[in-house]
Amino acid sequence: MFDKLHEECGIFTIYGSSDAAVNTALGLHALQHRGQEAAGIVSMSGENFSAHFAEGLVADNFTSKRVIKKLEGNSAIGHVRYSTAGKKTARNSQPIYAELSLGFLALAHNGNLTNAVILRKKLINQGAIFQSTMDTEIIIHLIALSQKATLNEKIIDAVSQIEGAFSLVIIHKDGIIALRDPHGVRPLVLGKLGDAYVVASETCALDIIGAKFERDIVNGEMVNISKDGIKSQKPFAKKPSKFCIFEYVYFARPDSIIEGKHVYEMRKNIGIELAREIGIDADVIVPVPDSGVPSAIGYAMESKIPFELGIIRNHYVGRTFIEPTDRIRHFGVKLKHNANLSVIKGKRVILIDDSIVRGTTSKKIVQMIRDAGAKEVHMLIASPPTIAPCFYGVDTPDKKDLIASQMSVEEIRKIIGADRLDYISIDGLYRAITNSKRNEKNPQYCDACFSDNYPIRLTDKVGEAIPLFGI
Ligand code: SF4
Repeated sequence: MFDKLHEECGIFTIYGSSDAAVNTALGLHALQHRGQEAAGIVSMSGENFSAHFAEGLVADNFTSKRVIKKLEGNSAIGHVRYSTAGKKTARNSQPIYAELSLGFLALAHNGNLTNAVILRKKLINQGAIFQSTMDTEIIIHLIALSQKATLNEKIIDAVSQIEGAFSLVIIHKDGIIALRDPHGVRPLVLGKLGDAYVVASETCALDIIGAKFERDIVNGEMVNISKDGIKSQKPFAKKPSKFCIFEYVYFARPDSIIEGKHVYEMRKNIGIELAREIGIDADVIVPVPDSGVPSAIGYAMESKIPFELGIIRNHYVGRTFIEPTDRIRHFGVKLKHNANLSVIKGKRVILIDDSIVRGTTSKKIVQMIRDAGAKEVHMLIASPPTIAPCFYGVDTPDKKDLIASQMSVEEIRKIIGADRLDYISIDGLYRAITNSKRNEKNPQYCDACFSDNYPIRLTDKVGEAIPLFGI
C-alpha cells in the first residue's frame, strides 16, 4: 500500500435482481482492492433513485439494514475509488448522477480521460456548471448537451468525443448500459445471476454473489440491458487492443479471469520466466506478500529452490495508516510486514516482489531480511522497471519520483541495499502472458509505464506541461 501503484477504481452494476443493493455492496467489497478511499451505490426503483456514498471501506459503510433498505429497486450501480482524477473531496464520489432531459441517469467510470482538460474548458465556455473536479463529470455533461434524440444515441455521441481509458456503467429508468473504450484498457466483464445481468470490473465480483461469468465486454462494445434482454453494439471506431498489462502483474485480483486468462496463472508464469531469465543460486524463495506470492511460487517451481513465507503480513493495517504522506510511507513497512526468522536466518534469500515504484519499501524490506540474519539478500522484480507514469486510470507518482526513471538498476540496487537486483525483461513479461514476443511496432498491450510508449494520445499533455487534470 505504501510504495505501489494504485488502480483508481472498480465498478459494478446489476439489473433485474430483488437484492440489487446487497449484491452491489458485495460486488464492490470483492473489488475493494481497486480502491479503498470511498464508495458509492445508486439504485433505481421505477423512475425513482436512491444513493448512498461513504468514505472508507464497503464492508464498514454499506452493510447496515438502514443503508440497504434505503437503496431500493431491482437495479443498481456502484463504484469504489482510490483517488479519482480530481481532488480527494467528498464531491468527487461516484457514481455521479444528474437529471437530464430524458430522465435520471447515474454513471460510474474506471479509467482516465486524456482530453479532459480541453473538453472541460469547452463545456465551461458553453455554460456547463461543474460540481466536481472529476473527468467523469465531463461525460455526463456531454450526454446532457447532445442534440441526438435517444439516450443511446446521446451516449454514443458523448463517448465519441472522449479519449483515454474508460470502462463505464450507466443506470437509467429503463435499464443499465455498460461500455468499454475502443482500446479496452481497463477490464469489464459480463455475468448472469439467475435472470439478472451483472457487469463488473473483474470476475471476482461475480463469484462473490454466485453469478456466472458469461464473457468480457469487448473493446469498443456497448451493451444495453433492459426488460427486453441484452443488446450489444459496437458504435465506435475500431482501435488496436491496448489492455493494461499491469492488470496481470499487480492490479487485478489473482482469482479473477481477464480476457480469458487467469490472473494467478499469469503471475506464476511471470515467476517461471523470471527464473529462466535470471538464475541465482540461493537457499530460499521469499515473496513480498501478498502480490509477490504467485510469481514467487512460479520462480520456485522453475528453479527448484524451496518457497517459504519468510515475511508475514499484518492484514489489519487500517485506514489510519494508508494516508499517502511521506512520514506514513516510511513508517509503514514495519506496520505491515515482519520477517519470519526461522526460514531466513543464515540463508541466501531471493525476495520476489511485483514492482518497485519509489524504492522506499524495498529498502526497508531488504534491511528487515538482513536484520533477521540472512546471509545474502537478492531482490527480483516480476515486472520491468517502472519508468513512466500512467495516464489511463492508475495513480502514479510524478516521473521524477519513479526511482527507475532516475537511476540505473545498479544504482537502485545500492540504494535498496540488496546483493543483487534484477527485473524481468519486457519480452519476458510478454512471453509469460502471451507465450509470444512483444510486437515492437504495435505492442499487444499497453505497457507505457515500462516502455514510456503511450498508445493513446495524451491530448491534454501535448505541447506544454498542462497538468492532466489540474483543476
Ligand atoms: S501505463 Fe502502465 S498502468 Fe497505465 S494502462 Fe498502461 S500498462 Fe497499465
